Amino acid sequence: MVSVGLTFNKDHFLHDPLLNGFPSPENPLRLVRIYDYLHDNKLINGNSCQLLDSDPAELSDILRVHSSEYVQDIKQSAETEKKYIGNDVYLCNSSFKVLLQALGCVVHAGDMVASGKYDHSFALIRPPGHHASVDSFSGFCIFNNSAILAKYLQEEYDMKRIAIINIDAHASDGTHSIFSDDPSVLCISVHQDPLTSYPSKGFIQEIGFRPALGYNINMEMPPGCGNSEYSIFFDEVVEKVLKQFDPQLVILECGFDAYYKESLSKLNLTVNGYYHIIFKLAKQWNVVSLLEGGYHEDLAVLVEVILSGMQGDQSVVDDVDQIELLASRCANTRKDFNDNLSKLKFILSTYWQLDSLDIING
Ligand SMILES: [Zn+2]
Repeated sequence: MVSVGLTFNKDHFLHDPLLNGFPSPENPLRLVRIYDYLHDNKLINGNSCQLLDSDPAELSDILRVHSSEYVQDIKQSAETEKKYIGNDVYLCNSSFKVLLQALGCVVHAGDMVASGKYDHSFALIRPPGHHASVDSFSGFCIFNNSAILAKYLQEEYDMKRIAIINIDAHASDGTHSIFSDDPSVLCISVHQDPLTSYPSKGFIQEIGFRPALGYNINMEMPPGCGNSEYSIFFDEVVEKVLKQFDPQLVILECGFDAYYKESLSKLNLTVNGYYHIIFKLAKQWNVVSLLEGGYHEDLAVLVEVILSGMQGDQSVVDDVDQIELLASRCANTRKDFNDNLSKLKFILSTYWQLDSLDIING
């Protein structure tokens, strides 16, 4: 039986924009909905899905990635200013405590899989992390959870090859900046076209720097893309690159804002689309999933779908009419996607074998 470990950031509600007197899509309701749903539907602590308590991370864990000046700045700002600090990021009195607790969940989720005790794991945490770089916050993100986990696994488990895959609707710009010249961490991000979406980074041409050229991969999804385009991208790029890179572990930056109901983006993944992404990944690699974005009412259902996909359960059924979804998008969506995919494959062909052998052999 496939085993899945869960960690949960129990202190998350102390990081709340309303404590500062203004609303934000990144608020405690996100995790409250998820936890209540999993608990009420008896989806945790069954035979194969265990929720375990996590200790807070150490300051030294954050310093695996971030500069000490930046960390001190965040800590002091949280304790003294308690306010919006820019780039969609706010801090409350207890935010630093919440961040350490969230990172504790992240590191624990990594331990579960790296130690071999669990096949996969999912850290249910907030705030998200993939926009944070070594010394800057952005887009609700303060510390980069996946980058800290990758460094932790390298340093504590001597892992030589780790893949980080971002499926959040927004580019994983912080993570890519941290590993842009490090070929031991392969970073792949599939996100909405940056010309139409925050953070206006993550273009196809951004492929990293020597000696890691080709180890930063960005796929621009035109607005309207959904299940079939994601499936093609994963089959034709992600799976082939992963097989050649042969990661010892895959970290999934699991954002749920590529969902068709998300108001902050214009992508069209459904529950079935998410299911197939995780099912295919988890069938071949050990996956540590970290919650990133996603601000709509179906977050909890999508977490359930990820858990089902990790456990290899039966495919889930969509409650949305695919014909209507397809009809709602621009007539050029598939053509633009195909153009982007061709461009990406051409650029990556210097570094990765992406054509099937029978085509090459004629
Ligand atoms: Zn996002």
